Amino acid sequence: MLKGKVAIVTGGTRGIGYAIVEKYLENHAAVVLCGSRQETADKAVAQLKAARPDYPVEGIAPDLADYESVKAAFDGVRERYGRIDILVNNAGVSSSEPLSAYTPELFRKVMSLNVDAVFCCIRAVYDAMAAQGSGCILNTSSMVSRYGQPRGVAYPTSKAAINGLTLSLARELGPMGIRVNAVAPGVTNTDMMKAVPQDVITPLINQIPLRRIGEPEDLANAFLFLASDAAAYITGEILHVDGQARS
Ligand code: NAD
Repeated sequence: MLKGKVAIVTGGTRGIGYAIVEKYLENHAAVVLCGSRQETADKAVAQLKAARPDYPVEGIAPDLADYESVKAAFDGVRERYGRIDILVNNAGVSSSEPLSAYTPELFRKVMSLNVDAVFCCIRAVYDAMAAQGSGCILNTSSMVSRYGQPRGVAYPTSKAAINGLTLSLARELGPMGIRVNAVAPGVTNTDMMKAVPQDVITPLINQIPLRRIGEPEDLANAFLFLASDAAAYITGEILHVDGQARS
């Protein structure tokens, strides 16, 4: 479904991001995955190549919230591959402190990766996509962007910002042939869930009509569809992949 396309996936070293990278490779994209450290990016690439040595995948580790760092890294991708077709903004952090323990520094840390970095990455691929007259930007929102959550205020705030950014840039970039969508995962089985207390997760599962939490592959399938030409007329969508969970 992605033959000939070049994709960048942030946070591609584990969890949902790793599943997206695998899915894109299986569908014949060339993939550049971003890790928070070069070492973890290299490890993820080695793991993928162990399964399929011919996979066209490499790992980079720019500081995602630093525009100059991202721009230099993504310009390098453009030079090596000649184009950038898909950007998946998947890297994210969560925290579940109550407001009484929430510091301005923690709030800034979550907003920095979940919002500022998404802007930096989009801004850094813009020139390439505008010159091509085509491109696909996929952001990662969350179920809690709609419903909020009982503690950890920066996280749902950051994901609501992602919804606004997605809707606005879809309008601005649509005329240039660039589609902008978001996927909003529900409770998904990754390391990030370890930060969420069990007393929050159990009631959530009981309320999910499909009676299970999501697997990374459930999300990767949505990211595949939206990146593919099968979604050529879809932009400005926030696709909820959450078993109809309601928190
Ligand atoms: P995860 O913690 O398993 O993986 C997070 C990824 O982000 C990792 O690859 C990590 O390297 C990267 N990352 C973390 N900090 C970074 C930094 N400072 N710089 C660069 N990269 C960094 O998380 P996940 O569950 O796979 O989440 C992926 C996305 O899905 C996130 O945006 C998250 O907010 C969103 N999401 C997850 C869930 C869930 O239940 N797991 C629910 C809703 C939304």
